[in-house]
Amino acid sequence: MQPSKTSTATIADLLARPGRPLRSFEFMPPRSEEDVYRLWQATDSLVPLEPDFISVTYGANGSNRDRTLRCTRHMVASGLRTVGHLTCVSQSVAELEQAVCDYRDAGVDHILAIRGDMPGGATEPWLARPDGLANATELVRLVKRVNPQACVGVGAFPDGHPASGDLDLDARILADKARAGASFAITQLFFIPEHYTRLVARVRALGCDIPIIPGIMPITSYGQIRRFGDLSGTDVPADLVARLTRVADDRAAVREIGLEAAAQLCCRLLDEGAPGLHYYTLNRSRATTELHSMVRDRRPQLWDR
Ligand SMILES: Cc1cc2nc3c(=O)[nH]c(=O)nc-3n(C[C@H](O)[C@H](O)[C@H](O)COP(=O)(O)OP(=O)(O)OC[C@H]3O[C@@H](n4cnc5c(N)ncnc54)[C@H](O)[C@@H]3O)c2cc1C
Repeated sequence: MQPSKTSTATIADLLARPGRPLRSFEFMPPRSEEDVYRLWQATDSLVPLEPDFISVTYGANGSNRDRTLRCTRHMVASGLRTVGHLTCVSQSVAELEQAVCDYRDAGVDHILAIRGDMPGGATEPWLARPDGLANATELVRLVKRVNPQACVGVGAFPDGHPASGDLDLDARILADKARAGASFAITQLFFIPEHYTRLVARVRALGCDIPIIPGIMPITSYGQIRRFGDLSGTDVPADLVARLTRVADDRAAVREIGLEAAAQLCCRLLDEGAPGLHYYTLNRSRATTELHSMVRDRRPQLWDR
């Protein structure tokens, strides 16, 4: 991976500067040698897009977590502003405190504080460990207590959190996370721009100005439509599903429609004032590169400032 030039400015600093929207990429820690190769290939291809930051997800068990830490250490050494995800799942307060220290020692001062899910997914009722934490708001507080220098991000849900069913409650929880010390939020993937703008409006109505960066994942295969719904409760608009269904057996056509829909979504979000675009890469670079160049070409004035 070629080192890129990263200033010491935090993501909060970047978001506070008027100017071009941020662009960032989410990666998953590699699970095998082949995965390692794919990850470095993807990062090598995406670094020329000059991401403002990259983030690395956090798994449900110890070996996954070690891989996340190793991966973030590598990214930091490569000069990338790196956000390590951290979840409350199966960890005591003492273990979470240690994880924050490990991140700090690895040079990772940006943490995405996320509750995580039970093994059955987001709709399985959450059972906090007696010696653990109940939710992401408590995790934000813990991170800030252990590493006051940390710049903390949190999750947000334009389609609503799958277990909540109450958009006002979701907005209040996001405002609580900001009060607890979070400096920015990244959303779950979504496809309906109005769902993002209504979330922003609800949060602003509570007097909370936390920047909310939309999380973007283009549909590149037909099977993803169901997976998105099952995994994250994401609403895919009926007309997009219908267009994709008409070409379901033609992979290239599905990809083209999915990328075009994602490009239109990104442009609309930027027009509505979104402070950046966070691309879910699935450790692959082609779709993200194509999508970002479509968005750049359609909104050149935003990126050339
Ligand atoms: C950007 C992003 C990155 C992610 N990265 C990862 C990852 O790396 N690893 C991973 O395992 N998962 C990850 N997830 C998935 C995440 O773990 C799940 O979406 C999880 O269900 C919610 O996490 P949260 O941080 O929003 O939790 P919380 O903010 O704690 O909310 C979870 C649920 O509890 C409810 N709740 C919270 N606080 C209160 C309260 N005070 N009163 C009443 N109800 C409350 C909320 O309504 C919601 O239904 C990510 C999600 C996002 C959006």
